Amino acid sequence: MNAQTPRRIAVVGSGPGGCFTAQALRRHWKDTEITIFDRLAAPYGLIRYGVAADHQHTKAVTRQFDRNFGSDDFRFAGNVEVGSDISLAELKGVFDIVVLATGRWRDRALTVPGSHLDGVLVSGDIVNALNTVPRPNLPMPAIGERVVVVGAGNVALDIVRFLIKTASDYVDSDVSPEALGTYLERPAREITVLSRSPIASAKADVAMVRELGKIPGVAFSVANSSSAAEDNTLGLKREAAFADLTAIEPDEARAQVRFVFGATPSRIVGTDHVESVHLAEAPAGVTGSIRADTVISAIGFDVNAPGHWHYAEEYDFAPSDGPGRLECGLYRAGWLKRGPVGAIPANRADAHQVAKEIIADVESGRCPVEDDPGGFEALPESVRAQAVSFADWQQIDAAEVANAEPARTRTKFRTHAEMLEAVEDLRTNGSTAPQTAPTHSMVKGQS
Ligand SMILES: Cc1cc2nc3c(=O)[nH]c(=O)nc-3n(C[C@H](O)[C@H](O)[C@H](O)COP(=O)(O)OP(=O)(O)OC[C@H]3O[C@@H](n4cnc5c(N)ncnc54)[C@H](O)[C@@H]3O)c2cc1C
Repeated sequence: MNAQTPRRIAVVGSGPGGCFTAQALRRHWKDTEITIFDRLAAPYGLIRYGVAADHQHTKAVTRQFDRNFGSDDFRFAGNVEVGSDISLAELKGVFDIVVLATGRWRDRALTVPGSHLDGVLVSGDIVNALNTVPRPNLPMPAIGERVVVVGAGNVALDIVRFLIKTASDYVDSDVSPEALGTYLERPAREITVLSRSPIASAKADVAMVRELGKIPGVAFSVANSSSAAEDNTLGLKREAAFADLTAIEPDEARAQVRFVFGATPSRIVGTDHVESVHLAEAPAGVTGSIRADTVISAIGFDVNAPGHWHYAEEYDFAPSDGPGRLECGLYRAGWLKRGPVGAIPANRADAHQVAKEIIADVESGRCPVEDDPGGFEALPESVRAQAVSFADWQQIDAAEVANAEPARTRTKFRTHAEMLEAVEDLRTNGSTAPQTAPTHSMVKGQS
């Protein structure tokens, strides 16, 4: 190593933003110790806790990250939350470089009159329940039989797919059995999807539209406010995909899905609970009032929502496609940098950019590194003791796979505390105890 090689790098957040950045830095600086911290005991952020349970192929990207964690100097330190377990200042004191990749995902909520009524839900609450998000662990919200979904982007289509699938469609998934079971006791029969834009400029990927057509027993209809121009290739493709959906004629339809493009909800009506949704604008042939007992909004993310960057409020986290540098030695990547847009591959491209920037800053002398600051081993003993290592996580992983319901890939631990308890059992006894309430010292801040 020479003076221009950092010895210790910390990455905060083990989602794709953090993992891709760490991977790119490791490729360049092969002897540098890299520690990836996460507030959760399990790595990989929204790959594990956001991507739909029936899209296991998308989650396979974690295998390439798994390979990185094979050596002692590429470390996972789960169950360590920056901002409560350790401050950013402490981290900066013992690492040459700190990369913040803590993501951000808070649904944008509907603001029309009536949004406060019972039965108005945000997509995130459903996604969290289906993915068994452990901190906090919340039950599946009650969903009725007449549902209006507001929004027609990919998350909205994830929700529609979930509403119309049956138990057998979840073979080989890691969906939460409790959340799915609760919903399937009384699944939705009439689903109306409202999109402010016409089909041509709606956000959903064509592949996601086509996927809906593979689910048997569902009848689809589409109302559109204006057609795609002839030179709008993507718009035309999307129109064709929706036209294919409407051509499906099931013998017996379990559920009806109606897409209404060019429609804006103006009011949700009800006494205490949702009874109907009124439209301000609607294409010809669509009535201005839709009977509903549930409204699910999937209208994107709130970029300004107060979030987990409470640990570093003095920095400006406005979304940016520009440099990741917050100051010499401190960078940001992933959704924390660009805002909550873009799929996993977009994080790869961005992470490579940030890694290049870090390498150039150090090697050009613009941001030189000082004497070895100590890294992970220089952290307080209490923080090191509570950290869940990659080997610990592999044990949790194995226990979840072993606990899988029939024809499922895994059954996730329900709470963060249960995961930590399993780790403790494995460390002391070499086996997991039954999943009971936690009582031991690893458990911190069950927020
Ligand atoms: C519902 C949903 C479905 C999606 N589906 C797909 C899909 O099918 N395909 C696809 O390609 N993309 C999908 N995406 C997009 C993809 O998930 C994101 O592009 C990606 O996860 C963003 O990566 P990130 O690392 O910036 O953030 P995240 O994945 O959110 O990772 C951030 C990590 O930081 C940790 N963290 C937060 N605060 C702290 C703290 N203070 N201290 C320590 N750790 C902390 C979190 O626990 C988390 O692990 C989906 C997103 C959502 C919301």
